[in-house]
Amino acid sequence: MGNGAKAQQKRERKNAATSKGAKSQLKVNEQAKNIICNVCKTTFLCTSREKQLAEHAENKHSKSVAECFPNYVPPLPAK
Ligand SMILES: [Zn+2]
Repeated sequence: MGNGAKAQQKRERKNAATSKGAKSQLKVNEQAKNIICNVCKTTFLCTSREKQLAEHAENKHSKSVAECFPNYVPPLPAK
């Protein structure tokens, strides 16, 4: 593959990314907020650390993460 083809490929990929962009952003934002406190219905980003959720559960409700966020599946601990 020559340099010309590579540059072309790069451009195409960039175009695909930009044309998708704006439209799907809303949907992404919706999806990103997918951890909801079962007690007060506060939404948390799915990227929230378990520590944040634990702090909310303990400070706000004196409950465990499992009680406030039954749908939250903790990432497997790194070994
Ligand atoms: Zn809560």
